[in-house]
Amino acid sequence: MTSLTFYGGINEVGGNKILLEDKGTKIFIDFGKSFAQDGRFFENFLKPTKPYGINIHLRMGLIPDIPGLYRDDLIEFAGRKPVAPDFQGVLISHAHSDHVDYASFLHEKIPLYMGETCKNVLRALDERDSRNFERSILDFDPMDKKRGDPPTPRTINTFRSGKKFKIDSLEILPLHVDHSVPGAYGFIIYTSQGPIVYTGDLRRHGTMASMTEEFIAEAKAAKPVALLAEGTRIADEPTDENEQKVFDEAYKVVSNSKNLVFADFNFKDVDRVRTFYNIAKKTGRKFVVKMRDCPFLEQFYNDPNLNIPNIDDEHIVIYKGRQYSGTFSNNDYGGNTRKYATMENALTPLEIAKNPDKYLCALGFFSFKSLVDMNVKSGTVYIHSASEPWTEEQEFGVERRDNWIEHFGMEQHQIHCSGHAKGQDLLDMVKEIDAKMLYPIHSEHPEEYKKITDKITMVGLNKTYRI
Ligand SMILES: [Zn+2]
Ligand SMILES: [Zn+2]
Repeated sequence: MTSLTFYGGINEVGGNKILLEDKGTKIFIDFGKSFAQDGRFFENFLKPTKPYGINIHLRMGLIPDIPGLYRDDLIEFAGRKPVAPDFQGVLISHAHSDHVDYASFLHEKIPLYMGETCKNVLRALDERDSRNFERSILDFDPMDKKRGDPPTPRTINTFRSGKKFKIDSLEILPLHVDHSVPGAYGFIIYTSQGPIVYTGDLRRHGTMASMTEEFIAEAKAAKPVALLAEGTRIADEPTDENEQKVFDEAYKVVSNSKNLVFADFNFKDVDRVRTFYNIAKKTGRKFVVKMRDCPFLEQFYNDPNLNIPNIDDEHIVIYKGRQYSGTFSNNDYGGNTRKYATMENALTPLEIAKNPDKYLCALGFFSFKSLVDMNVKSGTVYIHSASEPWTEEQEFGVERRDNWIEHFGMEQHQIHCSGHAKGQDLLDMVKEIDAKMLYPIHSEHPEEYKKITDKITMVGLNKTYRI
């Protein structure tokens, strides 16, 4: 028998955790964190942390309670008896938290399968942030880890787009798709009942839209028995956004300014990094990056397909912000930051402030303390290049952001294009692939798909569906 059980990503955007069983083979497709579920109980200073293991996650229903799935140390810590791992693998579609973060808790003997670039993004995140219990994917600290012990590595198998691989009886074809993080994939999984297609997160208006189109063509040709399609923006108003428009609009703003420019965007979004780097170059400015974003440039640079400069590029400046003593002394910078802070192209905010029209700073709201050091003048440009807030907490953040902008008399612009396909693009995709059955996921409005098909299953959380 072949079945799908949906442990997340139902009636919400993200948190995908989908179990596929076929003739005794059991794999998960993604194992992400649900921001909606997490947000019901937790906030900044109330977070599940390592001293609680996964006790909180299990009790609050953040992760499914299934034997043979989680690390022995976490199961023992929860006062239970560990059982041998009983799953053959987990397919990771891309490096966003809502698809991968809870893989942190999976038994290390259950191999993860991901694209090489996806692994590099996760590596950059590990280099950027201090160790995080809820994001310990490539390796993890066991509950009984002694100080100085190395982390326990996980089994990671990387795949390439278009190259089939097998997990027991299942054959899997990964195909890259365009999304707001590099190394994003959709899957065609060949089961005993026929092919199942999983879109992951994707869009058809990005710089690499052709990848998504190839995926759709392959998915259609496979004549799938089931299509698991994301529907993040299925109910949104139509727009004409794309990355080129982001470039054009932001270029116009930057080239008209004689002031300092700040661009606030997610550094995992490689297209946006490239967009602002190119705008800086074209307007005779240096592209200023935070030390904590340097690992991304280093990882992206290693992948020639991404066409991203390294940290010592002549158009790059490393932002050496105040730490520890506040005097910019090299002794203030430890670990990785020492390397970045002591590079020839590292500049302090005081140095940057001397030539405001020579820099485009990839610094966002969380770096706003630097506005004081940079002595910003009225008319300084702030470009917000990310999605608008969608939670109450984010709304509060926006209010604070606006207060800073008003205080310094800055000029604000919202210029963005989404990592998710537009509503009509999604409908067209699903019509085109024309699967025997559609399972809408990763959406607050899955019923919208009823407009174009009656071969649809409205999925329930934790429910199993026979294929
Ligand atoms: Zn997602
Ligand atoms: Zn995503």
